[in-house]
Amino acid sequence: MKWGPLEEGDINDSQRLHSVFHKYQPEAVMHFAAYAYVGESMADPLKYYKNNVHGSMTLLNVMRECNVENIIFSSTCATYGIPKAIPIPDSHVQQPVNPYGRSKLVIEHMLRDYAYAYSLRACSLRYFNAAGSDPDGQIGEWHDPETHLIPNVMLAAAGKRESITVFGDDYDTRDGTCVRDYIHVTDLAEAHVLALEAVEERPGLKTYNLGNDEGYSVKEIIDVSAGVCGREIPVQIGNRRPGDPPVLIADSSKARTELGWKPNYDNLEQIIKTAWDWFSRTN
Ligand code: UDP
Repeated sequence: MKWGPLEEGDINDSQRLHSVFHKYQPEAVMHFAAYAYVGESMADPLKYYKNNVHGSMTLLNVMRECNVENIIFSSTCATYGIPKAIPIPDSHVQQPVNPYGRSKLVIEHMLRDYAYAYSLRACSLRYFNAAGSDPDGQIGEWHDPETHLIPNVMLAAAGKRESITVFGDDYDTRDGTCVRDYIHVTDLAEAHVLALEAVEERPGLKTYNLGNDEGYSVKEIIDVSAGVCGREIPVQIGNRRPGDPPVLIADSSKARTELGWKPNYDNLEQIIKTAWDWFSRTN
């Protein structure tokens, strides 16, 4: 197996987790398992609390029973809700506006409480919008159903869907569409390695924003993608998507100073190009 052994299982299944922990005796956990669709979380919150919250609690308890002390957790800018300041520092108040964000915030609280009571060494990485693909073309973004902007723009560029629907163009932003901070997946991966070194210092919960500290609107993403793909992208204007904050831009200076993290992909065109390279190879 190219990247080491793969075990599949449900994080709600503590017996399964126990057997995997027993087999590998890990020193640390990187916890990515979650549902992550804002819209779906509004329609089916139980699914999110069960998988994200209960699953994480099960995982943390098995870690505790197996004396595994280090965890890096995938959190999200969705824990901030409608920001009161842009860019958003990681000290910003967290008032999520959808069950997805709330489920991730509950887990952050759990990590802090476990760190205090049981000496857990935890780091919560609050991703802004993860984007792009492995530049070697081996791993890319694929969801079923696909709901994310960039992969849907690629599908429209390739003629695999009729058009891309812009979810609302009446926001109070420069062109009326939502603004997000897109960060490349390999830059996110790099931050996890740095965070692992940082958590080993002492028990507690560290929190960091991970973003490029720059925002692009939905229309800008479509325009840049049209240039990268060299295709016309048919666009329709639709309704706002419930649970969407108008603007989310990171202030990730703490990750940069404390972890020594610096994104290599700080250019939107480059990020979209890696997504398109993988998409065109696999479609
Ligand atoms: N978006 C859109 N059309 C789509 C998918 C997404 O206009 O088909 C918008 C969405 O409302 C949000 C931004 O694009 O403002 C990024 O959405 P995505 O689902 O990619 O990530 P999220 O912000 O939910 O993590």
